[in-house]
Amino acid sequence: MSRSKKSKHSQVPICSQKSRTSNKAIQNETATAIASQVNDFINISQTIIFFWNVKASWFVEYVSDNISMFGYSKELFESGELNYSDIIHPEDYKRVCQELTEYTKSCSDQFMQTYRILTADKTVCWIECRTNIKYDEHHKATHFLSSLVNITDAKNMELQLKQSEEKFRTISENSPTGIFIYTDRIIYVNRALVAMSGYSTKELYEMKIWDLVVKPMRQQVKQMALRRLKGEKFPHQNSDAQDITKKNGMKDNSATTETIKYDGGYAGLGTLTDVTDIKKTKARLKLLAKAMEQTDELVRITDKNGIMTYVNDAFVAHSGYKHIELLDHPSNILKSGQHDDTFYKKLWETLLAGKTYSNVLANKKKDGQIYYEELTISPMFDEHHRIENFVATGKDITQRIKMEQKLKQYATTDELTNLSNRRRGNEILDIEIDRFHRYQSNFAVLMIDIDHFKLVNDTYGHDIGDQVLQQLSKVLSLHIRKSDALMRWGGEEFLIVAVHVNHAEIVSFSSKLNTAVRSYTFDIKNNITVSIGATLCQKNDTKASLLKRVDKALYRAKKEGRDRVVFI
Ligand code: GH3
Ligand code: MG
Ligand code: MG
Repeated sequence: MSRSKKSKHSQVPICSQKSRTSNKAIQNETATAIASQVNDFINISQTIIFFWNVKASWFVEYVSDNISMFGYSKELFESGELNYSDIIHPEDYKRVCQELTEYTKSCSDQFMQTYRILTADKTVCWIECRTNIKYDEHHKATHFLSSLVNITDAKNMELQLKQSEEKFRTISENSPTGIFIYTDRIIYVNRALVAMSGYSTKELYEMKIWDLVVKPMRQQVKQMALRRLKGEKFPHQNSDAQDITKKNGMKDNSATTETIKYDGGYAGLGTLTDVTDIKKTKARLKLLAKAMEQTDELVRITDKNGIMTYVNDAFVAHSGYKHIELLDHPSNILKSGQHDDTFYKKLWETLLAGKTYSNVLANKKKDGQIYYEELTISPMFDEHHRIENFVATGKDITQRIKMEQKLKQYATTDELTNLSNRRRGNEILDIEIDRFHRYQSNFAVLMIDIDHFKLVNDTYGHDIGDQVLQQLSKVLSLHIRKSDALMRWGGEEFLIVAVHVNHAEIVSFSSKLNTAVRSYTFDIKNNITVSIGATLCQKNDTKASLLKRVDKALYRAKKEGRDRVVFI
C-alpha cells in the first residue's frame, strides 16, 4: 500500500518535481498539495489513468482509484497480480499490440485507440484510450500513460444506429417505391428510383430534385423544395407529378414529400410511385364507363352473390328504380314470377360453372310491368380464376316478342271465327296422338259440318253466311270443356279434339252439341243443323287414319239424313 501511495505521487506525470527556486520546501509542499488535488479530481472523474511499463507484460506502475468502476482494485495492478494486457479483450488484444508497436516505431507522442476491455465480472466494455508514449534519452519507449474513457453506451448506441440504418437501407433498397432525400441536391435515392428515372445513382446525386420533373412543373416544384429546405412543413399530401426519365420519356408518378431535419438543416424526404399504368387503366375505365352510360343496352354488374354493384343509366331509367334502390340490392328484385325454380337453377348452374348464360327472360319493372329481356350474363374472374363478378347486358325485346306472338297467333288463328285454324288443328292432333301413344291418354275427334249451307249462302248472301259461321263457332265454344280444342277445319267444317273421354262420354257430348246447334236461334229464319262424325283415337292410329275415320263418320251422318251424330 505504501508503495502504491508513493508511486502514485512519484509517477503521475503531471506532477513536476523539478526545482527552480531557493524555497524548495515550500514549492515541494505546494506541488504535493496540487498533485493530491489532481489525484482526487481524477478519481472522481470518469477517466481512468494507467501508467504502465512497456516491458514486463505491461506491468502497471500506476492506476487511478476509479479503476474500481470496472470492478478492479488498484492494488491488483500495482502489486503485479494483473497486468494491463490482462484486461484487454482477447479479440482486440492483437490489434492493440500491433498499433502500439507501430506508434512506438514511428516515435508518436500521442495516439487514440478504441477497443474492448473486460471488467472484473467479465463484462465487455468499450473504451476510448488516449495514450502518451514516454521515451528515454535513447528514444526508446519505456512507459505508456493512458487515459481510458468508458464509451460502452455510446458504442452501443452507435451499433443500434448502424443496425437501424441497415434496416432502413434494406427496406428502402428493396422497396418497389422510389425513395429520395434531397437538400440543395439529391443526396439519397434507392434502387427503385434509379430504375424509374433511368439515371445512374451518380448522375442523380449531381442533380436537383426539380431536374426530374417536366418543365411546366419544374418552377413550382423548385419553389416548394426550397421552402422545405428552410424548414417549412406542408400538410401531408399526394401529388401527381410528371417526371422525365433519362431517355426523355415521361412517367406519371404519385409523389409524397415531407420536410425532415437533416445534418443541422432541413431536407426533403419523399417517395415516388409509378402510376403510369394505373393512369392508363383509369383512363380506359373512364372511357368504358362513359360508353356504358351512353349505350342503350341494360347493363348491371353484380358480385358473385348476385348483389348489384353497378347499374348503367339505361338500366336505371328502364327499370323505374332509382340508383340507390338497385345498388347493393339483389338482382332478383327483377323477377317476374314467370319462370320456375328450375329455370333459375339452370341459369346459376351455367354461371357458376364459369360459362356465359344467354336467354330471354321475362323481368319486372318497379311498376310491375313485365318486359322481355334478351339477356347475356358473363362471369368475370379474379387473377386466381375465381368468379368475382357477373356482367349482365340486356335488351328489351318486348315489342319483338309481342310481334312474334301476334304473328304466331295470325298463323294459327282463323280470322273470321277467331278459332284455331287448320294448321293449329294439325299441331294439336300431332301432340295428342303422340300423348296417346306415350301415355295412353284417350281423346276423341269430332268433325262437324253445317247441313245445306250452300242454301244459306244462296238465300241470304255470303256475308250472312259468314255471320252464321261466327255464331256457330260461339255456340260450339260454349259447349266444350276448357281442356278441349275447337278449330275451324275449313269452309263450314269444324273439328273438336276432346281429351280424356271414353266412348259413352263422346257419344253424349256429340249429341249435346248437335242438339245445342239445332235449338240455337241464328239470325236467319232457316234452322241451322249440323252433322257430326265422331271417333276415339285407337291403337295404331296415325293422324291420317284418325282423320279418315272421322271423315267417314261424318259422311255417314250426311248420308243417313243429316242433323245427327255418327260414331265409328
Ligand atoms: P251438306 O254439307 O249438307 O252436304 O251441304 P252443303 O251445302 O253444306 O254442302 P257443303 O258442305 O259442300 O257446302 C260448302 C259450302 O259452304 C260452299 C260454300 O258456299 C260454303 N262456304 C264455305 N266456306 C264459306 C265461308 O267462309 N263463308 C261462307 N259464307 N260460305 C262458305
Ligand atoms: Mg262441307
Ligand atoms: Mg255442309
